[in-house]
Amino acid sequence: MSRPQNLCILGATGSIGRSTLDVAVRHPQRFRIFALSANERMDELAELCQRHQPRYAVVAQTAQAEALGRRLSPGVTEILVGPQGLERIAAHAETDCVMAAIVGAAGLVPTLAAARAGKKLLLANKEALVMAGPIFMEAVRAHHATLLPIDSEHNAVFQCLPDTFSGKLDGHGVRRVLLTASGGPFREATLEQLQHVTPDEACAHPNWVMGRKISVDSATMMNKALEIIEAHWLFGAAPEQIEVVVHPQSVVHSMVEYADGSVIAQLGNPDMRTPIAHALAYPGRIEAGVGALDLFRIGRLDFAAPDFARFPALRLGYRALKEGGTSPATLNAANEIAVAAFLERRLPFLAITAVIEAVMDELRPRPLANLDDVLGADAAARRQAALQVEAMAD
Ligand code: NAD
Ligand code: MG
Repeated sequence: MSRPQNLCILGATGSIGRSTLDVAVRHPQRFRIFALSANERMDELAELCQRHQPRYAVVAQTAQAEALGRRLSPGVTEILVGPQGLERIAAHAETDCVMAAIVGAAGLVPTLAAARAGKKLLLANKEALVMAGPIFMEAVRAHHATLLPIDSEHNAVFQCLPDTFSGKLDGHGVRRVLLTASGGPFREATLEQLQHVTPDEACAHPNWVMGRKISVDSATMMNKALEIIEAHWLFGAAPEQIEVVVHPQSVVHSMVEYADGSVIAQLGNPDMRTPIAHALAYPGRIEAGVGALDLFRIGRLDFAAPDFARFPALRLGYRALKEGGTSPATLNAANEIAVAAFLERRLPFLAITAVIEAVMDELRPRPLANLDDVLGADAAARRQAALQVEAMAD
């Protein structure tokens, strides 16, 4: 067998980062932990460095780098700082595979750097693709990067498409992509109940254990809105070819409907190690530490139409996709500000989508030609969202 692949994990201390390490260390002959990054939880990063002895570790601030350096044996791990450090490990000549698992817009620049360096790129950071869809996909094409979706729905769709898939659904007889959604912790809550929910209730997802930002996104269903846009860019699906199907058991991770009436689904336990292992080993298959799916225990699978009235985020997702240009970047940035305000108990739950809609109404979409346009739209939406948060605060 050839030498192990050098793995770079952007966001190593997060939920996806830790699951990636869990899978990779089961296969030391295939993967070597080459570079790790983290923004906070420095104790955890120090432990990861001691255990995996990566060539590089990237932290956010110089003070963190100094503290980390004092805890590690000299000469093993070089510690880099900030966005330049992230770009450097993502595009490093010796990096073979990049797991993009930073949460939010902060992941865009290093994830794009990995695409531009033509890496095998495992994309969990959906916000990067939502913000910069056309620029990101063009970078993947131009630099022959191998883009593999980690988001469980998109990984499922990828698995249900033919091996020959070349970026356009119609050419392969695909009618629609059916994205499943658990419905989150408030699937059955009334609008009245939604007015009073707390951050801890919003983060208590029934099926998945995730970071707090994506947990709130699941509760508002903004996560699915972002995934609609993600599916558009990954699979060349038009808005009307993307359907959201509420499926509370989170066993069917998504489906592809073909012109002949066939519907192909990917099933599995709700454990992110499955899509991570799929992408790490692609086109092979490896052990992920995930138990067998027990269909007898599950017993039944339910499906329902989503409720656009209680979950207006879905409508905003389709709107941003149809408007195009800077609109998805605006949606994403406004969501990040509103979610942060909700988590800090400065904004009620239902005001999250109200803030986003107000920002989208205020900042009309402009064309996206380059990264500066994306970052400009992101900054403008953050400013506008902060004003809206103040106006709608508790
Ligand atoms: P998390 O909050 O658990 O972890 C985020 C990681 O990013 C941490 O390592 C953190 O240190 C780092 N980070 C945060 N802000 C940063 C910044 N400004 N600069 C550099 N690094 C920063 O998040 P998560 O749940 O692991 O999600 C990561 C990404 O994967 C998100 O984009 C999310 O939408 C996506 N995703 C997650 C899941 C899941 O099950 N957790 C499923 C599908 C997609
Ligand atoms: Mg998902």
